Amino acid sequence: MSVISSNKALSDLLGVDEQLTESERDLIALVRRFADDRLRPHLAQWFEEGTVPARDLAKELGALGLLGMHLDGYGCAGSTATEYGLACLEMEAADSGLRSLVSVQGSLAMKAIHAFGSEEQKQEWLPRMAAGEALGCFGLTEPDFGSDPGGMRTRATRDGDDWILNGSKMWITNGSVADVAVVWAQTDDKIRGFVVPTDTAGFEAHPIKHKMSLRASVTAELSFSDLRLPADAVLPEVKGLRGPLTCLSEARFGIVFGSIGAARDCLETAIDYAQTRTVFDKSLASYQLTQAKLADMAVELQKGILLALHLGRTKDNGGVSNEQVSVGKLNNTREAIQIARTCRTVLGANGITLDYPVIRHENNLESVLTYEGTPEVHQLIIGQALTGANAFR
Ligand SMILES: Cc1cc2nc3c(=O)[nH]c(=O)nc-3n(C[C@H](O)[C@H](O)[C@H](O)COP(=O)(O)OP(=O)(O)OC[C@H]3O[C@@H](n4cnc5c(N)ncnc54)[C@H](O)[C@@H]3O)c2cc1C
Repeated sequence: MSVISSNKALSDLLGVDEQLTESERDLIALVRRFADDRLRPHLAQWFEEGTVPARDLAKELGALGLLGMHLDGYGCAGSTATEYGLACLEMEAADSGLRSLVSVQGSLAMKAIHAFGSEEQKQEWLPRMAAGEALGCFGLTEPDFGSDPGGMRTRATRDGDDWILNGSKMWITNGSVADVAVVWAQTDDKIRGFVVPTDTAGFEAHPIKHKMSLRASVTAELSFSDLRLPADAVLPEVKGLRGPLTCLSEARFGIVFGSIGAARDCLETAIDYAQTRTVFDKSLASYQLTQAKLADMAVELQKGILLALHLGRTKDNGGVSNEQVSVGKLNNTREAIQIARTCRTVLGANGITLDYPVIRHENNLESVLTYEGTPEVHQLIIGQALTGANAFR
């Protein structure tokens, strides 16, 4: 069976299959089967309607062991980083919105509690989140602070032993369907993370409408109005931006793989289409101009998969730096959206309909390019690593 792509010719050309372990191949097969059976038949409709049964899907993803899968204990699967990445690749080959659900749950909300939470917080939330019985979200971005989260205005102040939270968060994936929000806020002693059950008085979540991207994903605005939390709601093990940035690095790692999945789905679609479409009495695939496009895209796809696998193996062998993850996020999201755009041209007018997945991926990748650090932010991170000079401000 072709593993890295179900298109045998593409899989053979990429030649990556033999670099995968048996358990990685099994995982890819499992996630692809789930995507084929449970997701693909509905994706166009979910995208068109801007809805997704997030809570039902979370339970199914939990049963497959895909939520917080790279974390240890507390009902998590304890998979390798590479396995987690490959699961993201297959999920995003279906839809970036569904991969976002997995990433936000595992790499952002669960990771924050797993890495920085108290034993009680871990026991209370992680087993249910791993099972998909509780959904989490991660509130860092605010209406006026995205690339520069350190400027956030959301504030937690002390009232006796309690905390009082005021402020708002913007663009929060799963925000209006979550049971628990990890919220980052200014305090008198640096930025701290808070574990906020979403049924706490003073918590409101409003879905963001009119998105043209990531429509099969819930995105919400959160507001906190004199929201009272007990003393033990704070994540005890981290202060400052290191907390959210550690989680972001995990989620970015998943995107390095995931974005390539979306690109692969586009390229498989374009190759099939070119072989069946006739223009000027011949198959579209038989023209040199078409083959040049397909060849260039296959080369970039190959480089993207190898980069993702390299970062995966590096992470499994002792860890990747934030700068290395930035290299992967910058390259793979940028190339993925370029591949999606070029595939759309191969499909001509058909390419703009939801009868094919390409325009959906292309639109989704606009969000994937932007969230978890825009291309400019990753250029600045890499630039600082190369020169030692901080050019953020
Ligand atoms: C669908 C979706 C889901 C999301 N989910 C979440 C979530 O679950 N949780 C969460 O906290 N956030 C989430 N986000 C928010 C996301 O992380 C931010 O949108 C992102 O960080 C960019 O912030 P911004 O939109 O405020 O853009 P801005 O920071 O305002 O950036 C605007 C432009 O300025 C550029 N820029 C910024 N700084 C510099 C600089 N120093 N030099 C040059 N150019 C610069 C940027 O690259 C960009 O091109 C989500 C976003 C989307 C679209």
